[in-house]
Amino acid sequence: MAKAFFIDTSRCTACRGCQVACKEWHGLPPVTTKQQGTHQNPPDLNPFNYKLVRFDEHKINGKVSWLFFPDQCRHCVEPPCKDTADSYIEGAIIVDEPTGAVIYTEKTKQLTVEQYEDIRESCPYNIPRRDEKTGLLSKCDMCIDRVQANMLPACVKTCCTGTMNFGDSQEMLDFANKRLAVLKESYPQAELVDEDSVGVVFLITHPRKMYSAQI
Ligand code: SF4
Ligand code: SF4
Ligand code: SF4
Repeated sequence: MAKAFFIDTSRCTACRGCQVACKEWHGLPPVTTKQQGTHQNPPDLNPFNYKLVRFDEHKINGKVSWLFFPDQCRHCVEPPCKDTADSYIEGAIIVDEPTGAVIYTEKTKQLTVEQYEDIRESCPYNIPRRDEKTGLLSKCDMCIDRVQANMLPACVKTCCTGTMNFGDSQEMLDFANKRLAVLKESYPQAELVDEDSVGVVFLITHPRKMYSAQI
C-alpha cells in the first residue's frame, strides 16, 4: 500500500528538529546564511536542505502570530517533475511503486541547467533544487532507505508534537480528515491541501495566501 505523510501545521512549534534530522540522516553539509530579519533559516530550500520550516508573521486578531509550515516535496501521485524529466532522460526521476516515493537519481546530473529549470517550473510546489557543482538534482526522498527497513522517516521520528505523521495513505487521510473536523471549530478556514493528488497532506489553519510556501 502507498505511504503518505500527514503534516498537521496546527501542532508545529517551529523547533526545527525535523529540519536538522533530515540533514543529519542524509549527511548534508551546513549552508552559510545571513540574518534576514526572520527566524526562518535558511531562507529557502536548497540542495542541502530537503526540509525547511517556513515562518510567516501576521497580525491575527490584533496579535503578532506566526504560521509555521514544515515544507518538503509532496511526493505527488502523478509527479509532473518526473513527466518533464522523462522527456529528457528516462530514469533520472523514478517512483518507488510500493511506497509512492518520488526519487531523484544520480542520472539527474546529466540534465542541463535549462532542463532542470523546466523540471523545477513543472513542480506545483517549487521543490527541486540543483547542486551547481555536481549538477545533481535533489529533494526529499521520503527517507526511502529507512522506510524500506520499516523505520519512520527521520523528520517524523524526531517530531515530538504530533505535527509529522507517516503511514499507509488511507490511514493518514482518515487521520487528516478527523483532525480537520476538530480544527474547523477553532479555525473555520482550515483545510487539507491537495489531499487527493499528493503523498504529503498538509493541514493548514489559515487561507493559503497567508503562507509563503507555494501551496
Ligand atoms: Fe514542527 Fe515537528 Fe518540525 Fe518541530 S519537528 S518544526 S514541531 S514539524
Ligand atoms: Fe527529509 Fe526524510 Fe523527512 Fe524527506 S522524509 S523531509 S528526506 S527527513
Ligand atoms: Fe516532484 Fe514537486 Fe511533486 Fe515533489 S512536489 S514529486 S518535486 S512535482
